[in-house]
Amino acid sequence: MSLTLQHIEKYPFFDVIEQIAGEEACEIVKSLLFEDKTIKEIAKDTGLKINLIRKVLYKLNKYYIATYEKSEKKINPIFREFTWRFNPQAVVKYVEKRKEVLIDNLKKNLNYLSQKQVFFCGNQGCSTYDFEKAFELNFKCPNCNTALKLLDSTTTINKIKTFLSKVYTNY
Ligand SMILES: [Zn+2]
Repeated sequence: MSLTLQHIEKYPFFDVIEQIAGEEACEIVKSLLFEDKTIKEIAKDTGLKINLIRKVLYKLNKYYIATYEKSEKKINPIFREFTWRFNPQAVVKYVEKRKEVLIDNLKKNLNYLSQKQVFFCGNQGCSTYDFEKAFELNFKCPNCNTALKLLDSTTTINKIKTFLSKVYTNY
């Protein structure tokens, strides 16, 4: 995928970047959108401190969202500086990966709730029990002595299902 302005408008790049590396990261990435730059050039663009820029870039580099290479610009005749590049594809990958983990967890919850019978007295602050434990307790809550009743998980299951379909369709 190559980056176009349309992509930037449609895709929540900056939301994701802010989550990973903070508000300043958005300013830094904006400065790198259409041109690779050295940290000094980014500092000139954004007015941010060099140390902060370096910290943010290393955070983004963990996910290959920002990568660096030796500059051909030869700003300093002795040292070649590094130029930094923004890789939008890495943001897409990061989101896909997170989406996978989220869907996986939701499915596990859904399975648990669909397969297990959960017993509950209905009082906030008391615990829930599976069938075996509830049987052992004679279907009485050990905390408040109220009868333990089979909890209807339908509402929770439906909520998770709705959320799952949103996760599938988003992005
Ligand atoms: Zn109770």
